Amino acid sequence: MLPELSSIAKLDELDAEVHRLHSRLAELPKLAAARKKASEERRKHLTAEQGRLQALDKERKQWEVGIQVRQDKAAKLKKQIEQASTEAQLAAFQKEIEYLRVEIGKDEDRVLARMEELEALETALRAEQSATERDARETADLLRSAEAEYKEGQERLKADAASRQSLLEQLPREYASLYDRLRKKYKSGPVITEVTEGSCGVCQMVLRPAFFQQMKMEPDALYLCEECGRILHYNAPIPVRG
Ligand SMILES: [Zn+2]
Repeated sequence: MLPELSSIAKLDELDAEVHRLHSRLAELPKLAAARKKASEERRKHLTAEQGRLQALDKERKQWEVGIQVRQDKAAKLKKQIEQASTEAQLAAFQKEIEYLRVEIGKDEDRVLARMEELEALETALRAEQSATERDARETADLLRSAEAEYKEGQERLKADAASRQSLLEQLPREYASLYDRLRKKYKSGPVITEVTEGSCGVCQMVLRPAFFQQMKMEPDALYLCEECGRILHYNAPIPVRG
């Protein structure tokens, strides 16, 4: 293999890493922001649900006050009933007391149903509260590690750019420009590949027999895939002793 090809292979790996890093660093702040937003939404939802619970409980207390008012009124009527002087007055008192009894019964049922509802909601909110707190801690950890990864990635990119520069400077000009040309064409993928089973390792094009023969006979020359233009190298299989 040409000695220049090992530098080209290193450049190829380096650029692939740079490409991956760029994509990762571009998505990292978006991922972090989305996670932060989801965590905040969850907190808001919990606060709203806690507010709803308080409002429901307030209503229950108002109903209880209403029951007490009606009970007092009924007790007063029961005393007044003794002063009724006519059948009509007596009937009117009895009708009023019966009405209050029915209304108090309805309110007591409402209070009971509400208390069951509140109990279920409280249980659900306690679970949601601890899940929300756990989520907030995990989100904070994730944001810290995303920030560290971002900084580390930036440092890595600087180091990669320096290594890339020095590798390119070591290459003869024609190889450096060949590499640049291929790099522009294949931004993320490899520009150098091994011939496997007589085919280009990337585009899979089967090499012409004469071309392949030439590669085997003169391994220290530059070969480009006739289909995709990538640099080819060939390692003769090592014979296995039987
Ligand atoms: Zn090819």
